[in-house]
Amino acid sequence: MKPIVAIVGRPNVGKSTLFNRLIGDKISIVADTPGVTRDRLYRECEWTGKEFMLVDTGGLEPRNSDFIMENIKKQAEVAMNEAHVIIFVVDGRAGITALDEEIATILRKKNKPIVLAVNKIDNYISQLEDTYEFYGLGFEKLVPVSAEHNTNLGDMLDAVVEDLEHINLPEEEEGLKLAIIGKPNAGKSSLVNTLVGEERTIVSSLAGTTRDAIDTPLVFNNQNFVLIDTAGIRRKSKIEEDLEYYSVLRALKSIKRADLCVLMIDGVEGISEQDKRIAGVAHEEQKPIIICVNKWDAVDKSEINKKTYRQILESHLPFLSYAPILFISAKNGEKVLDILTLSINIYEEYTKRITTGLLNTVLNEALILNPPPTRKGHAIKINFVTQISTAPPKFVLFCNYPELLHFSYMRYLENKFREAFGFEGSPISFIVNKKG
Ligand code: GDP
Ligand code: GDP
Repeated sequence: MKPIVAIVGRPNVGKSTLFNRLIGDKISIVADTPGVTRDRLYRECEWTGKEFMLVDTGGLEPRNSDFIMENIKKQAEVAMNEAHVIIFVVDGRAGITALDEEIATILRKKNKPIVLAVNKIDNYISQLEDTYEFYGLGFEKLVPVSAEHNTNLGDMLDAVVEDLEHINLPEEEEGLKLAIIGKPNAGKSSLVNTLVGEERTIVSSLAGTTRDAIDTPLVFNNQNFVLIDTAGIRRKSKIEEDLEYYSVLRALKSIKRADLCVLMIDGVEGISEQDKRIAGVAHEEQKPIIICVNKWDAVDKSEINKKTYRQILESHLPFLSYAPILFISAKNGEKVLDILTLSINIYEEYTKRITTGLLNTVLNEALILNPPPTRKGHAIKINFVTQISTAPPKFVLFCNYPELLHFSYMRYLENKFREAFGFEGSPISFIVNKKG
């Protein structure tokens, strides 16, 4: 688990510019999978050997909103709760505004390290005085920067990393880590309770319930498990409950630490945009995943059956075609133990290695059956495949024209590999290299 650094500030101060500057142009390979939400809120970063997750809260704010104030407060509160260090961005040319003051008040409430980035200081010498007034916001660490001109960002990152040094992330429990993810009220904590067989976490539909993510150790069939309950979704207010970002960020924290994800969908309500986004995160993080349609006891079976439900899920989550679907009731315990049994199997799939000989046999059969179509006058040849990693399983293919290999052909190969080798529940990915 890497520490989280969040960028916070009112609109137009340059948060997105800063975020983009800091992440450079690292593009994730799986990002182009159809159906995965493209807009990214977070990226992995590294500065002087220290790794962290950088979170942009800016991309979320509605531009012409009447509720700017409310959104900004939410954003600052989210950052306060979730981040380990906060980069608070202000506009050095505009001076302190009422909104800046509001955010500062929220940020000062807790004892999180804050780095105040006074942005748009494009000309350090002539604008230096503009930055002094920002000390009035009450933060010790102030760094004048220009996100646009890439000035002083190194100093800013030094300040961030210095704070990160003092953060102790909790020790991890031993066992297969299952992240129970899903939107509020899907039944995540009910599932944990049922699996553990006692009321270790408190299920409550009362507004005002607050609790943090809890790790629950569990032994089943001689296998140690750790259930990571993202239940911590705080039901403080309607606003927060609606704030998709909040639960996605929480889910992300759990997903990162997990060996496997259990996506809980409220079977009565059906799949939502928020479910899709959370599923997309699990997929992008390349974690194995089990989809659980929960509250199956309360679903009207005359309205919808399992087969139709499966079809709906497949059409909404096309990128998760490898994920098994269980119909469960966290409340009465129906099928919940299947999650644990299946997890053990899936984790084996996720960590297995196929010999190069077998891989190439399957590749050659696939190529003979359906050769890659000629493109732009070039005959495409794939010569060789080998597995370069497990957890997630990754394969590298060698090809004479990697750039001409079409996505649909890769899909075909993936299907052939899955037919031959399984990998049920596990994402697999391919890297195509130029035959050297
Ligand atoms: P956000 O709403 O906080 O994410 O702000 P944006 O990143 O969208 O930036 C708002 C505007 O400020 C854009 O027009 C940027 O080009 C501009 N901007 C961002 N950083 C700088 C900077 O360092 N100097 C100057 N002069 N303009 C900047
Ligand atoms: P969480 O926010 O995802 O942790 O959801 P909770 O576990 O707090 O459950 C939300 C609500 O759904 C509670 O009122 C639960 O009693 C109810 N619930 C959870 N699982 C089931 C289920 O399998 N069947 C039914 N009928 N209700 C459930």
